[in-house]
Amino acid sequence: MDAVGSMTDPEYRCDRFAAASPRRVLASCVRPWPLALLLPAFFAFCAYAANDSLPVLWTARQAHKLTREEAARGYPIHLERAQVTFFQARPSGLFLMDATDGIFADIRGDLVPNLQAGDIVTVDGVSGPGDVAPVILQTRIRILGHQPLPEAPLVSFDRLATGAWDARWVSVEGIVRSIRRASGTTAYDGHAASSRFNTILTLASGPDLIDVITLNPSGQDYASLIDAKVRLRAATGSRFNQRKQLIGVHLYMPDFSYVQVEEPPPPDPFALPVTDTASVMRLGVSEPGHRVHIHGVVTSTWGTQQFSVMDAKHGIFVDTDDSASVQVGDVVDVVGFPAVGDYTSVLEDSLYRRSGNAAPPPPVTLSAAQALEGAHDAEPVRIEGQLLYKSRSVAEQDLLLTASGTTFAAALPADAPQGFPADLQPGSRLRITGICFIEVTPAKTPKALKILLQSPADVVVLRRPSWWTPRNTLILSTLLCLMVLVFIAWNVGLRRRVRAQTRVIRTQLQEAHTLRLQAEAAHQEKSQSLANVLSLQQDLLAAQEKLRYQATHDVLTGVWNRGALLDLLHSEIERTLRSQSSLGILMIDVDHFKPVNDSHGHLAGDAVLREVAQRIGCATRPYDISGRYGGEEFVVILPGCGLEETHSSAERIRAAISSVPFMIGGCAISLTVSIGATIAGGCDHSETEILSLADLALYQAKSAGRNCMALRTSFEEQHVGRA
Ligand code: GH3
Ligand code: MG
Ligand code: MG
Repeated sequence: MDAVGSMTDPEYRCDRFAAASPRRVLASCVRPWPLALLLPAFFAFCAYAANDSLPVLWTARQAHKLTREEAARGYPIHLERAQVTFFQARPSGLFLMDATDGIFADIRGDLVPNLQAGDIVTVDGVSGPGDVAPVILQTRIRILGHQPLPEAPLVSFDRLATGAWDARWVSVEGIVRSIRRASGTTAYDGHAASSRFNTILTLASGPDLIDVITLNPSGQDYASLIDAKVRLRAATGSRFNQRKQLIGVHLYMPDFSYVQVEEPPPPDPFALPVTDTASVMRLGVSEPGHRVHIHGVVTSTWGTQQFSVMDAKHGIFVDTDDSASVQVGDVVDVVGFPAVGDYTSVLEDSLYRRSGNAAPPPPVTLSAAQALEGAHDAEPVRIEGQLLYKSRSVAEQDLLLTASGTTFAAALPADAPQGFPADLQPGSRLRITGICFIEVTPAKTPKALKILLQSPADVVVLRRPSWWTPRNTLILSTLLCLMVLVFIAWNVGLRRRVRAQTRVIRTQLQEAHTLRLQAEAAHQEKSQSLANVLSLQQDLLAAQEKLRYQATHDVLTGVWNRGALLDLLHSEIERTLRSQSSLGILMIDVDHFKPVNDSHGHLAGDAVLREVAQRIGCATRPYDISGRYGGEEFVVILPGCGLEETHSSAERIRAAISSVPFMIGGCAISLTVSIGATIAGGCDHSETEILSLADLALYQAKSAGRNCMALRTSFEEQHVGRA
């Protein structure tokens, strides 16, 4: 508690020290005067020795005049005759005043005697910067005596709030709002202002309140002072924040004897006539500053110190020290001090009595914009809106909602038994039922709407939010993008793999194609080789056939040659013998052939021989064997022919030759043939013997005149035939 004073302030008049100068004070207190001169000189000397020649400050005003930096240097202070205006040992506090000013002594850690307000003391110490104004440190007190504290100048609350009266002994007037035991220790920057040993009287002057901290060691009940208009005297202490900024004042009153009642309160506040809530703070209805009496139903409770009441028409907020026993639906009588609320008037420092129960009035269904107009402030309302988000602070849990462009809040006390359900999702459409509370600007115009809730049950979900919230949409879009990216990456990877595998397959196909071409070439080469082999083989066979043909056929006529005839005759003879059949053999010789050569030449003779062979072939059966035996001689083998068949065949041959002339070179050449025939099979003759028999028969035919056939079956008998 810092003491700040001004000697020039005309309102500062302490009656006892009014118009007193330091000299007059000293003159009135100390005799004889030489001593009055010697003592200051002595203390000045001591201070000089102790404080590097800093001058001694003789008055409270001199100490107060110091700047913060000067005070910090530790000026020696000697107040020869000061009076205690407030003293308590715990928490420590000592206010002093002399004829010039008041000042606060910070006696923490100092050995100070037990003082009483009004004690006349001599004070020694050093200056200190204090919190907001210089103070006395290292205080040493010597009690000189005791005198009643003087009257004090009457100071308004507004002037006290300026801080100019800090540490001074003042009088204030106001209405006692409350008297209560201090709860715990109230401290500022480590310096306690009050503790549970103190009683605090709250004094009201208009809208302003001042706490008067006093000592009440006997614990006497002064509640009868509430609502009384009083005038009291006290020392002024400043309230400041952590930055040493002035935020108000406290008064420190020695005890309740310094309270002077000017207008007593009504003996029973609940006997006051009932006022309707709408009349509270209405001009001319009730005496300003004094309590009023209302009657209604409790519509909500908020924390432990506030509830709302609604009478027949309107609602009002009630502040009280304890609302623990109040419940919604209670019918109550309330007496409290009217005060300007945020928007609607409130009753402060209220007392209440319950008289029954009643159904609370039903809420009024409104839009948020209508509620914000203020007509239903402090009353039950029901509003629908869309939830924007949830938040939580030290004091309350909030839902922030919007409805038709108006944003408003719904609040639960932070210490509510149950919080909002976790599944209350932003975007939900909610129906809120609670007490309308209008927050205002400094100019007291409606600024914001808050609905005070009793429990989470006051919030009804009308419609859940669409799943397509921006958050979910963002998540889904992100997932889709990721899937697309994964698909693209997979596709790219797949394409690369396919491309790589295609390259491998193409390479393998090319290699296979090359191998196939090589195989085909090899196969073709082998085929060609095989064809060549086959061709060679065929050529060889053809050559062999040709050789065999040439070996067995006559070159000129194309019929069997002599060697072949002998082999065939041998085979036929054996077969005839196996089958026990017969075999006819004809030996044919062209008659007078030599003259043909001679006459027509050998080529003509050759042609004749070729046609003779042809006519013999035509005259015989397909399976008969004909061949050229040599020169102009031919042999015909007739398998299975006996005498008659052999004879017939010989005759057909002879006729075929002789019946038609040969046309050679344009010349018709008539020829005949002689035929020697024999039959094999009856006896075991060799082919040579057979041919010899035929030749012998031929000779017989020649001999018989030619152009005939002679048959001889043995070397003994003979037969000649002619056509
Ligand atoms: P004959 O009636 O007694 O058999 O009288 P011929 O003239 O037929 O018999 P000869 O034995 O005297 O004559 C055979 C002739 O046949 C002699 C020869 O010049 C001729 N001759 C033999 N071989 C060939 C041949 O291959 N070509 C030709 N043009 N003449 C041949
Ligand atoms: Mg002949
Ligand atoms: Mg002949």
